[in-house]
Amino acid sequence: MQQLLNQLPKRHKIFITSLLTLVVLLMFIPAEKANASRDNSIKTLIAIDTDDNVLEVGKSYPLEVDLTHIEESIQNPKNAQSLRWQKVKVKNGDNLAKIFKRAGFSAQTLHKITSLGKSTKILTKIHPGETVSFGATKQGILRELTYSLDQVSTLIVSLNEQNKYQTRTDTKEVETRRQFATAVINSNFWNAGIESGLNNSQIMNLANIFGWDIDFALDIRDGDAFSVVYEDRYIDGEYVGTGNIISAEFVNQGDNYQAVRYTDGEYYSPEGRSMRKAFLRAPVNFKYVSSSFKRRRFHPVQKRWKAHRGVDYAAKTGTPVVAAGNGKVIRSSYSRANGNHVFIQHPNGIVTKYLHFSKRKVKKGTRVKQGQLIGLVGSTGLSSGPHLHFEFIVNGVHRNPRTVKMPKAKPIAKKEKSRFLQVAITSMAELNAGKRVRLAFRDNNKSPK
Ligand SMILES: [Zn+2]
Repeated sequence: MQQLLNQLPKRHKIFITSLLTLVVLLMFIPAEKANASRDNSIKTLIAIDTDDNVLEVGKSYPLEVDLTHIEESIQNPKNAQSLRWQKVKVKNGDNLAKIFKRAGFSAQTLHKITSLGKSTKILTKIHPGETVSFGATKQGILRELTYSLDQVSTLIVSLNEQNKYQTRTDTKEVETRRQFATAVINSNFWNAGIESGLNNSQIMNLANIFGWDIDFALDIRDGDAFSVVYEDRYIDGEYVGTGNIISAEFVNQGDNYQAVRYTDGEYYSPEGRSMRKAFLRAPVNFKYVSSSFKRRRFHPVQKRWKAHRGVDYAAKTGTPVVAAGNGKVIRSSYSRANGNHVFIQHPNGIVTKYLHFSKRKVKKGTRVKQGQLIGLVGSTGLSSGPHLHFEFIVNGVHRNPRTVKMPKAKPIAKKEKSRFLQVAITSMAELNAGKRVRLAFRDNNKSPK
C-alpha cells in the first residue's frame, strides 16, 4: 500500500490520505454523538488507532457492541448501566484494603465505605472463606457491595442518587417445618441420636435440655428412649439447616422427663416448671466421658460411690469441668491427696468438691455461675489416671449427686402461665402424634399380614 501511494502523484496522495482520515472520523461520529467520552471501551478503541496504527478501511470494529450499551444509558440515564459483578473470596491474612485492591477499587472508595460507621464496621472483621461481591459500573465505579452476614441476612452498601454510599440489610424470610425423631438407646446416646436423624448440635441441645435431671455421662442405660419435635429451616424453599427443639421427652431408667420450648427460648416441663435447676447432674459434658454407658451389668459406679463418697468421671486430661451450680469458691489449692482441687459453697448448705485437676481456673473467693469453667481434668494427687472426682455435700453429709433430691425449679411467671399452657398442650400433642405414627409404622413392619 505504501509502495502504491508513493507511485501516485502528490495531489492523489493527499486526496487518498484525506479520504482515509475522513472514513476513520466518520466511524466515530455516532460514538461522539452519544457522549461516550467516559466509556473505557471507546478509549481502548482510540488507543488501538493511535498506538498501533492498524485500522483498516472496510474492516468492521466492535463499535456496535458499545453503541447498544450507550443507547441503553441514553434510554435510562439514571440507572445508567447494568452492573458488572465480581465475587472476591477472603483468603488467609486478607483485610479489606487487600480485597478492595484485588477487586480493582481505590483506597478512597474503601475509606468512603468504612467511614459509614457502625453498619460497615462488620466488614473490617471478615473471615477467610467468606465472599464479598462488588457490582461496578463499566467505568469501574463501585455502585454496590454485598456481604452475607449469615444464612438469612445480607449487608448491602450502595451508591445513592446523591453519589453517597448508604447501607441496608436485606433479610430473607425463613420458613420452618416441624420434624420428628425418636430412638431407643441400645449402644449409647450419641449413636442413637445420630441414627434417629439428629445432628451433633441437636444431640448436644437435647442433652442440655435434660442436663439438670439426667447425668448423661454415667446414667444412660440400655432401653432408655427419647422423642423430639424440632424445626427444619428453609429459605426460598431450600433447606438451610435445623432450628430449635420444640418439645422433647426422655425416658431414663424408667423415669419420664418432658420439656417444651416457650417463646422466651427457655424449656419448661408441660406443667410449667423450668427445666433449669440449681445444680447440673454432671459437671462434665457427657461427650468427653469415657465408658459413659454400661450394658446391663452390675452398677460399679454405685459401689464405688459408697466406697469413697464421690463420683468419678474418666475423661482425658484437659477436659473442661464446670461449676455444678452458682456459688462462691471457698478453696482452690493443691494437696498431696486431692491434687489440684476446688471447693464451691452454694446456697442451702450445699458444697461441691472437684479433685485431681491438671489446672485450676478459679481462685478462692471468686463467685461462679452454673456452667462456668472452674478447672481441667487431670490426674494430680492420689489418682490412678485422668479423671474428675466429684462430691456433693448437704449440711456436712456426703450425698450421691446423681440421686440426691435437688431443690425444686422455678415455675413460669404467673402472668405467662395460661399462654404457656396453650403452647405446652399443642407441643406435647405434636410429640405424641409423632410417637403414635412411628409406633404404628413399626408395628405394621413387624407383623405383616
Ligand atoms: Zn473418686
